[in-house]
Amino acid sequence: MTQMMGQGQGGGTGRGTGQGGKGMGGGRGMGAGGNCVCPKCGYSTPHRRGLSCYQIKCPKCGTLMVRR
Ligand SMILES: [Zn+2]
Repeated sequence: MTQMMGQGQGGGTGRGTGQGGKGMGGGRGMGAGGNCVCPKCGYSTPHRRGLSCYQIKCPKCGTLMVRR
């Protein structure tokens, strides 16, 4: 019985890879960036790369911003 596995028309995995890419390839705005928001007055500013929100002070009230 085990001899039915000849290499005839096996190939079960014919179309395995190739499900149109999804994900990757959108805008890079929201991934690593985001905004820094002032928890006090609500002022928000785009997050700068390399600079933590916790190091930015709100220009309005002087509170340290938090990342959102
Ligand atoms: Zn503020």
